[in-house]
Amino acid sequence: DAAIEIRDLVKEYAGEGDAAPKLALKGVSFDVPEGAVFGLLGPNGAGKSTLINIMAGLVNKTGGTVRVWGHDIDRDHRNAKLNIGIVPQEIVFDPFFTPFEVLENQGGFYGVAKALRRSEELLRAVRLWDKRDAYARTLSGGMKRRLLIAKAMVHSPPILVLDEPTAGVDVELRRQLWDLVNELNAEGVTVVLTTHYLEEAEALCERIAIINHGELIANEPTRELVGMM
Ligand code: ADP
Ligand code: ADP
Repeated sequence: DAAIEIRDLVKEYAGEGDAAPKLALKGVSFDVPEGAVFGLLGPNGAGKSTLINIMAGLVNKTGGTVRVWGHDIDRDHRNAKLNIGIVPQEIVFDPFFTPFEVLENQGGFYGVAKALRRSEELLRAVRLWDKRDAYARTLSGGMKRRLLIAKAMVHSPPILVLDEPTAGVDVELRRQLWDLVNELNAEGVTVVLTTHYLEEAEALCERIAIINHGELIANEPTRELVGMM
């Protein structure tokens, strides 16, 4: 079964000022299979963030449909909200909130029962338990990225969507983030991630869709795709 179904997705950004409108997605269709680690690979400007932001409900689409577990996101916002956890590319935390507070707040928004226990479980999973009471402003970039992942998982969504989770991080942290994605997937979480590193998509994803200039140019099991290159 498909966790997410995307059909004929079109996005046109209105041009600002004298700028011409920009067709960022030109009719994209694919399925994210349940239980997969699914990679969206493409160069800068290809349309990856746009696609992810539409899935997350952060950006309105111009045309087409997105279904999460069979429910149209336009008609059933609640279903999308409960089923998807989003890890945005940009890291934004209030400087004087601690990891524990970030997770407690997020749990509160979602009405998570036993939020305290869930926060502890997640902080341990992302190896931030020792930093649970540190101000966000004192955390390293890698710690913040791990906290973002924990935050996205507070309500135990079955689908986790990550936008360029390892952009600009060092080799060591990249390994840690890969391990974390694999651990979550082993627990049954369906993962969708964008990347512009073929190496990353190859290492992590069992299926890769390649997007370029707003069009899907491949969508194959990783083994077959790598054989073609
Ligand atoms: P990415 O590596 O994710 O593609 P970008 O630099 O393209 O990063 O985009 C960063 C942010 O700036 C995004 O939130 C995007 O919506 C916005 N953005 C990108 N291109 C434009 C543009 N031409 N006009 C206005 N906003 C843009
Ligand atoms: P990617 O994530 O693959 O780098 P994006 O989805 O960020 O690609 O961008 C796809 C195209 O849409 C790019 O040409 C980008 O400049 C443009 N774009 C992105 N966000 C905006 C925006 N808010 N306004 C105008 N153009 C945008």
